[in-house]
Amino acid sequence: MIILEGKPVTEKIIERITEKQAKLTKQPCLAVLGIKGDDASNVYIGRIEKNCAKYNIDFKLLMAKDETEFKNNFNEVKDNPEITGIMFQEPLPHTCASLINELPAYKDVEGLNIINAGKLMLGQEDANIPCTSKAVIEVLDYYNIDITGKKVVIMGRSNIVGKPLIFQLLKKNATVTICHSKTTNLKEELQTADIIVMAIGKAKFLTKDYIKENAILIDVGINFEDGKMVGDIDFESIQDKASMCTPVPGGIGPITNVLLIENIITNALRD
Ligand code: NDP
Repeated sequence: MIILEGKPVTEKIIERITEKQAKLTKQPCLAVLGIKGDDASNVYIGRIEKNCAKYNIDFKLLMAKDETEFKNNFNEVKDNPEITGIMFQEPLPHTCASLINELPAYKDVEGLNIINAGKLMLGQEDANIPCTSKAVIEVLDYYNIDITGKKVVIMGRSNIVGKPLIFQLLKKNATVTICHSKTTNLKEELQTADIIVMAIGKAKFLTKDYIKENAILIDVGINFEDGKMVGDIDFESIQDKASMCTPVPGGIGPITNVLLIENIITNALRD
């Protein structure tokens, strides 16, 4: 089985980032807005801040004490020309989370507002695309995996992975099926898939019994078992049956991180 390592894919994206950085006429600045919360989100924000520093992107963290302060922070950054990108840190109450739709498309660097979702659905080139879903496409492209006419099954229908992936795969002429927790014929769908994208957040869920011979597997899942990071695929189990598989860690995760940086730089160029 070929292991579809994320590292060379990230290196190619970093080359693109360097080319774009050379064209910048203004300093990129990311603002992350949230409401003070748990430690898990602090770890995530810390990683983004570190990555921004690495790529010379200014970083502003605005953690509000309540909804009113969040809305004030939002109004401050929304029209500020020095802020080139904005991200929300979930969890947020709906009244705050829905403000993402008031952002101009180019400031919504995660591609989560309705304008970017619409652009993606219509196949417009300037759509900001949610990075994790785009990471799947980057892997397929880098390893020259032609999906024309192939049956791709996506497991998981979230707004950041499953749903945006549908349109990207359709654009590449795949036949796309999406499964979720209410799907009744899961095994049948998976056993007839040429390519499976796992994004359900269930440790080692996909075993060899679910896949056909020579299936190509992409693992988006991040789970922890006894303190060790594992994906949604039981890597040991599928080794002798699948033809290719992304690893966890070292697969989709690092690609997602650099795609966010690329989105921030690309949008600073548009600003
Ligand atoms: P969500 O919890 O938002 O969505 C999970 C999806 O999986 C839902 O659609 C759910 O169905 C479906 N699902 C859950 N259990 C089953 C099951 N037993 N059978 C079939 N479908 C099921 O998760 P996210 O999309 O945010 O994340 C998915 C995984 O990807 C997580 O492990 C997360 O940590 C990881 N992730 C990785 C990133 C990376 O950079 N590599 C970035 C972001 C996420 P339903 O809709 O019916 O509830």
